[in-house]
Amino acid sequence: MIRTNRQNVQDRETSYVNLILSVTNTGTVIETDEELYELLGISKKIFINKFQNNLVNFVRNDQQKAFYEAIKCHKHSVFIIEPIYHNDKSELVLLIGSPCKLHDGEMAINATLLEQSELDNNINSNSYYTNTEGKVEQTTCKENDTIKDKDLHNIIVSCYETIDKNDREYYHCDRITGLPNETGFYEIVEKILKRNSEEAYAIVYTDINCFGYVNETYGYLEGNRLLAQYAGMMTQEKDFIKAATRLLADNFVFLVVGDSLDEVADRICSMNKEFSNQSCDERIAVKLILSSGIARIDSKTTIRCAIDNANIARKSIKANPHTSCGIFTKQMQEKILWETHVNHNMEYALKNNEFQVYYQPKIQLKTGKMVGAEALVRWITSTGEIIPPMRFIPIFEKNGFIEKLDFFVYEEVCRFLRDRLDHNLSIVPVSVNVSGAHLSNPYFVQHVITLVEQYKLPFNLIELELTESVCIENSSVALEIIKQFREKGFVISIDDFGSGYSSLNLLKDMTTDIIKLDSQFFRSGKMHQEEKIIISSIVHMAKQLNMKVLSEGVETSDQSEFLKEISCDMAQGYFFAKPMPISKFEELLN
Ligand code: C2E
Ligand code: CA
Ligand code: CA
Repeated sequence: MIRTNRQNVQDRETSYVNLILSVTNTGTVIETDEELYELLGISKKIFINKFQNNLVNFVRNDQQKAFYEAIKCHKHSVFIIEPIYHNDKSELVLLIGSPCKLHDGEMAINATLLEQSELDNNINSNSYYTNTEGKVEQTTCKENDTIKDKDLHNIIVSCYETIDKNDREYYHCDRITGLPNETGFYEIVEKILKRNSEEAYAIVYTDINCFGYVNETYGYLEGNRLLAQYAGMMTQEKDFIKAATRLLADNFVFLVVGDSLDEVADRICSMNKEFSNQSCDERIAVKLILSSGIARIDSKTTIRCAIDNANIARKSIKANPHTSCGIFTKQMQEKILWETHVNHNMEYALKNNEFQVYYQPKIQLKTGKMVGAEALVRWITSTGEIIPPMRFIPIFEKNGFIEKLDFFVYEEVCRFLRDRLDHNLSIVPVSVNVSGAHLSNPYFVQHVITLVEQYKLPFNLIELELTESVCIENSSVALEIIKQFREKGFVISIDDFGSGYSSLNLLKDMTTDIIKLDSQFFRSGKMHQEEKIIISSIVHMAKQLNMKVLSEGVETSDQSEFLKEISCDMAQGYFFAKPMPISKFEELLN
């Protein structure tokens, strides 16, 4: 059985080393490797002859009893070694922790009870012993814990580079896994990249899915044991993994070496699988699933950026059952660049009138007349490029700008209708889209009412479109908002009806005026028998529920004819008219 486990040796000068040693109750080292002597800065011979093969000789005299007891009780304690025995590069810290089992009989230390602040306190105050509450005092063992020399204990010896003592950050290590913290990791990676600039490196970001479930079901200690086990497993692959850190909770980041990202991904996938198999043992009946992402790191990419990229790659494979590791691609890079561009330019674009409202007519099928229109926003840049909403609305929904943009659209629509009324010109009701972001604003309904009142418009000239998914995700809020709007006299429609899974349930719960049948029903151009049956049933059902049906995305005369036959009320689509700028729409109205 291997009892020593050197973790995370990247670079003797910069990283720190965790050695797990097997010792007796009285501190005699039973098993170790050469690393220990290097750390202590003395030869094996001296360690055996002068120090009786015993670590206690490195601990200050008045702390030795506490040291024995800490070993025996597996108290999580920190001892700073007397400086005279240091090699001149390092500080040695003895950290006693309870060992946890790794596969193949290897051991890792699960130093769960030691708070990081306690480690700091010890280093700061130069005190030599602490209990788990962080007070400097002697530990006591229970009466029946008699010291038996033959009892073996695994302890961890951590070695840190001696650096400016004011730079406390440097001493931080992860108490659960023994890995360096983020700051330490950055420093290690920087050094490695600088030293081996010709090698190809990548960052791997791994998340253990549903880890919270383990914590909740089996307790935090068990969760911590698994984290330590995972860190131990990964850091054994020294030819591949060159640095590691636990970024937060169950998220790990690794620096790996490899020319081909596909090969790196394959290797990570099999390691994920291996851990997944290991995680499910007699103690935990759960097979943990890991998801990872990989991104290249080179002199041009910052470490932070590479970590973010790897995380994006990881998210890209969520819900993909065929792989547990995604690779950061050019398209992902472009998406980030585009998002950044949008974030930087949206405010200016709004001020610079780059957002314009287009109108798409709605046709009454029975008469072929235009009975309404939908307002659809366009971003027309200063160079004349027309950017469709799908390229910026999802970004605005993430960054919150959608609320501002929607109200800009609502006001443009109000101004347009007011202007036509003032000039005694014909009008049709206009529908606007309501982003889900508004639902968390308790003043949303009132803001819309105030706006429409400001333009002295009858409320029924404005129709509000809420998508089916927004209604399902926030059903209670949506229900309340719909009720308030309808009481005022606004017309409400459910947009993209039929695009989700719970469409029919929605009809049961929500009373609305119109349902807009999603364009996917008409995408294929030709209508299939099954689609015809479904559409006619929805139209029939809606009629019985006193709702009107508008079919979206109608592109052919066949579709239009069919919809007319089954008495669908309205339609909207390229077959009748595309969304158009206001000037063209006014021509159509006149
Ligand atoms: P939506 O509300 O479902 O709007 C209908 C979309 O279908 C529009 O795309 C329209 O141009 C397109 N369309 C209409 N007829 C046809 C057709 O016959 N064939 C095809 N293939 N497409 C057709 P658009 O304008 O690109 O807008 C996309 C989505 O962006 C909208 O889907 C809506 O969800 C969102 N959106 C647009 N303007 C706004 C806005 O001002 N505020 C908010 N919150 N969302 C908006
Ligand atoms: Ca819509
Ligand atoms: Ca729609």
